[in-house]
Amino acid sequence: MTNEHPSPPDENPCLSCGACCTRYRVSFHWTETTLGDGVARREPGGPHVPVELTEPIGPHRQAMRGTASYPLRCVALVGEIGCSIGCAIHSVRPSPCREFPRSWENGEPNDRCDASRIAFGLPPLGPPPTPSDSENDTQAGVPATPNSRSNV
Ligand code: SF4
Repeated sequence: MTNEHPSPPDENPCLSCGACCTRYRVSFHWTETTLGDGVARREPGGPHVPVELTEPIGPHRQAMRGTASYPLRCVALVGEIGCSIGCAIHSVRPSPCREFPRSWENGEPNDRCDASRIAFGLPPLGPPPTPSDSENDTQAGVPATPNSRSNV
């Protein structure tokens, strides 16, 4: 699948991707779900993953429904991969999702982000432009492209 509707440069590229939510099992301790409200891990009454959107995969672990078997797509993913997409439970999403950085979000690539995008025909994300990139682009008359990898 190709990205027919690329994001404006300033927009979060995850909002037009979603590929990682269809590639990896998302599993976590059951206390992250609403069953664990007040038990541990998260504040009592705080954000918990709706347990009905999860399934047990072991005595202490749950997985987001749709991510424990193929074809894989998280039940909370809403929209079209590579176009317009979002997480229906973004504010209460589980820790594996919170801790999964997109490539270059923390200043370094994430191979699993890159692999997810490539599987859908999307280019890996690149590092943000540097001032020298802007100078070079201005000199060359080419606009900066912060969402494309500069070394390929
Ligand atoms: S919970 Fe949200 S962020 Fe996590 S895999 Fe599902 S759709 Fe993606």
